[in-house]
Amino acid sequence: MSKVLQQFLTENLTDLRNQGLYNEIDTVETPNGPIISVKGKEHINLSSNNYLGLATDERLREAALDAIRKWGVGAGAVRTINGTLEVHEKLEETLAAFKGTEAAISFQSGFNCNMAAISAVMDKNDAILSDELNHASIIDGCRLSRAKIIRFNHSDMDDLRRQAKTANESGSYNKIMVITDGVFSMDGDIAKLPEIAEIADEFDLITYVDDAHGSGVLGKGAGTVKQFGLQEQIDFQIGTLSKAIGVVGGYVAGKKELIDWLKVRSRPFLFSTAVTPADAAAATKAVELMMDSTELNERLWDNADYFKNALKNLGFNIGDSETPITPCIIGEEKTTQTFSKRLFEEGVYAKAIVFPTVPKGTGRVRNMPTAAHTREMLDKAVAVYEKVGKEMGIIQ
Ligand code: PMP
Repeated sequence: MSKVLQQFLTENLTDLRNQGLYNEIDTVETPNGPIISVKGKEHINLSSNNYLGLATDERLREAALDAIRKWGVGAGAVRTINGTLEVHEKLEETLAAFKGTEAAISFQSGFNCNMAAISAVMDKNDAILSDELNHASIIDGCRLSRAKIIRFNHSDMDDLRRQAKTANESGSYNKIMVITDGVFSMDGDIAKLPEIAEIADEFDLITYVDDAHGSGVLGKGAGTVKQFGLQEQIDFQIGTLSKAIGVVGGYVAGKKELIDWLKVRSRPFLFSTAVTPADAAAATKAVELMMDSTELNERLWDNADYFKNALKNLGFNIGDSETPITPCIIGEEKTTQTFSKRLFEEGVYAKAIVFPTVPKGTGRVRNMPTAAHTREMLDKAVAVYEKVGKEMGIIQ
């Protein structure tokens, strides 16, 4: 290894470890279901984004296995060079139907999708109005586009309107886009999409909603845009195939012309091979299941309401989440870490989220009850919360 790299790595890794900021990743010994085994012991898993439990669903496994038998394990090359397999086309048609749009395009991940879509449309002569709490992949996608990035205060519609007006009246930009998460992943609050659409209409903004945490959850599964009936007003509906859909990949759903443009101008589509046939087939199956029945979505909400109420009744601060994302806000960083560690020792797997992911002093343990949890599992988790909360003096 070169000396300069060696020095860089040693210095920075030591520094991170000394500050307690080096994130040790656990090895999970069982599939990612509601119960996982870590360090040889079973835990109730409240850390996944596997909202509907589809990551381990038998029907998705079968679809993936059938696709492997029919198509093999890899796509062969990027789609523009080697052609598109029917499984990828089927996935995109199914996603468009699910989202209520003319067309859809899939990418290798949700992260990749934001890198691809923003920079395919925006450039250095443009401006992007971005909610200050937007996901890292949106921030990176905006940076990659070289557009002027104007952050607005989180879900503050007065601030958005003021900044949209200033940007619009300045005459400095060819195009202006407003970007928001549909559901914010740390607090579980929903973006104010009707107001955003209204402001976008007033100032001729392109609208972009990353609904990674809304799809499969809101709008009876079809997402935040559908919940508000704004399919015609939102230009870009972004989603991931890795959370409620349970597989891997990302997508943009929108008008056919937009998707046509992304197929010729988004670099991760042009220069990176698509998800495997197994991924595409399993994700297609997941979307079909969600369109056929809202049963899993209803179970998710039942479980989420049950778990949230139980924590609230115990006296925990669960913030103002409007979705299954259930933050249990502890505050001080070290206490939050200790709380999560004690939950782990008692058989609950729920991770501490602290600064810099969330503001200082708002450390929390983030819980994700899913459709796959049974009431018995949730009751056990709540009992552990009560025990540890009382022991640490967080609740009375
Ligand atoms: N956007 C948002 C809002 C997300 O929460 C995430 C996942 N953390 C992503 C994009 C990235 O999705 P993926 O894991 O599919 O790359």
